[in-house]
Amino acid sequence: MLLRKEREQVVEYGKKLLDTGLVTGTFGNISIYNPDSNLMAISPSGMDYYKTEPEDVVVLTPEGEKVDGAAKPSSEYDMHRVFYLHRPDVRAVVHTHSTFATTLACMNWSVPAVHYGIAYAGKEIPCAPYVPFGTWELAVAAEKAVGDGFACLLGNHGMVAVGNSISYAFDTAQQVEFVSEMYYRCKSIGEPALVPEAQIEAVMKIFQTYRQR
Ligand code: 13P
Ligand code: ZN
Repeated sequence: MLLRKEREQVVEYGKKLLDTGLVTGTFGNISIYNPDSNLMAISPSGMDYYKTEPEDVVVLTPEGEKVDGAAKPSSEYDMHRVFYLHRPDVRAVVHTHSTFATTLACMNWSVPAVHYGIAYAGKEIPCAPYVPFGTWELAVAAEKAVGDGFACLLGNHGMVAVGNSISYAFDTAQQVEFVSEMYYRCKSIGEPALVPEAQIEAVMKIFQTYRQR
């Protein structure tokens, strides 16, 4: 099977997204890029994460051409492939509608450095303006907001995280949700103290070697 490992990982991480509460129902999507074949494996559109089999995971070129897979690819395939086209360091993309990140996205707020965990995403988590889902325009808006960082909020929609592996992109999506929750909670009792930029830069360096695997 073409891209067997990546398709199995898409299935595995889809279940993790649901189990950790980062998505509800069939929303959100995941992809993994394989640089050797220049192909990407992406979750099928609107399919129960627990019923998704590796054969349902769709294999596309970064130009968006379908190569393999029984199902229709995620409606957000443009927002995934845009990173594989333009960011050679990105090997995986995770999109969620996680509660606190989406709450702030509905305010069209960016998230400042309220907690050092933000360093997974960058110095802040910018918020892209609202753009209809499943469009190339959303892909462009997400790419612009992420910039050379690793995540952004999507106005009135959710969030997207990218990384050099599915494990890192998933962890970043979790950290974005955690820091968004902290910001939401702080704003509900006052004005949070922010971590200085130089401190976040230092943490970003430490995070490069923080994880054991
Ligand atoms: P898909 O089920 O097509 O991946 O779409 C879910 C979603 O989150 C759209 O923004
Ligand atoms: Zn979405």
